[in-house]
Amino acid sequence: MTPLEALNRVVYLMDRSLAASAKIGAFRNAAAVIAELPPGELEQRVAAGTLLELPGIGKSTGAVITQALAGEVPQRIVDLEATTIVPLSNKGQVYRQALRGDCHAHTFWSDGATSVETMARTAQDLGHEYLVITDHSPRLTVAHGLNAARLREQLSEIAFLNERMAPFRILAGIEVDILEDGSLDQDPDLLARLDVVVASAHSKLRMERTAMTRRLVLAVASPHVDILGHCTGRKLRSTGTQAVSDPELARPESSFDPELVFAACARFGTAVEINCRPERQDPPDPLLELALDWECFISIDTDAHAPGQLEWQAFGCDKAARHEIPMDRIVNTWSVDRLVEWAANHPTG
Ligand SMILES: [Zn+2]
Ligand SMILES: [Zn+2]
Repeated sequence: MTPLEALNRVVYLMDRSLAASAKIGAFRNAAAVIAELPPGELEQRVAAGTLLELPGIGKSTGAVITQALAGEVPQRIVDLEATTIVPLSNKGQVYRQALRGDCHAHTFWSDGATSVETMARTAQDLGHEYLVITDHSPRLTVAHGLNAARLREQLSEIAFLNERMAPFRILAGIEVDILEDGSLDQDPDLLARLDVVVASAHSKLRMERTAMTRRLVLAVASPHVDILGHCTGRKLRSTGTQAVSDPELARPESSFDPELVFAACARFGTAVEINCRPERQDPPDPLLELALDWECFISIDTDAHAPGQLEWQAFGCDKAARHEIPMDRIVNTWSVDRLVEWAANHPTG
């Protein structure tokens, strides 16, 4: 393991736990620093004891580099491999093995931590056949949402990568913001070009129940929308096993009439997302049960913002197992061709 591989592995493992992002940032930054060094410099600095004089290298990152250079598996990696394992029950394992891809993932085109290629290669390493890239839309300025021009640029990058990574498929998607009036935050022509569209509400989550119901129903009924993302918008203060990284961000579920929203999902063939993020776990169990009563399609998605978070699908698989969701209702169990065909053709009312 080279020092660069070791630092990247630390970042990956910290990402799959809920480590505070500042802590991960130090390792990500150190990886960027040593990636730029001329060959031999690290070895010279370790021999001369000047490694920590490099800007961006501290005691923790320096220890990982030094141990990797000595041909050891750094102790931090040994510890993290053991402590950050994402748990998965036997019944959940059956679901995990049936999943062929993930329909919700971010890159540094919006607020993700890394490139389309790194996310896609990680998904491939995890056994997936495809990954849908779903960066944010323009109104979500805090997340550097993509305007039409940048989304078109991203589509070119995806097309280029697809030639190199075949038969693995990177599907072009978006997490389009559901605006207050239920309209969508991207050009309809562009939405029509995408393979898979996830639609989510990110602002005005406390709006009054009738207005929120109308907002979600209108979005779900759009011919462009394939998956309703994190439907309640809740963020948990604790995940049960550990506190979330920023408890200040905790927020309650949005208020809406779930019968109407899920009836609309069923009517228009729009899937309800099981969002696997530990701080979201959306929808809550009673709502998921209701979506299943309505025979909605389900999509088990990580909403990963970093490669290590792609492993969070295990949480959704356990949830699916607890609710005994029929396999064929889960869109990620379908072949990629069937998924794309469904996304293009489910009923539009
Ligand atoms: Zn979102
Ligand atoms: Zn997202």
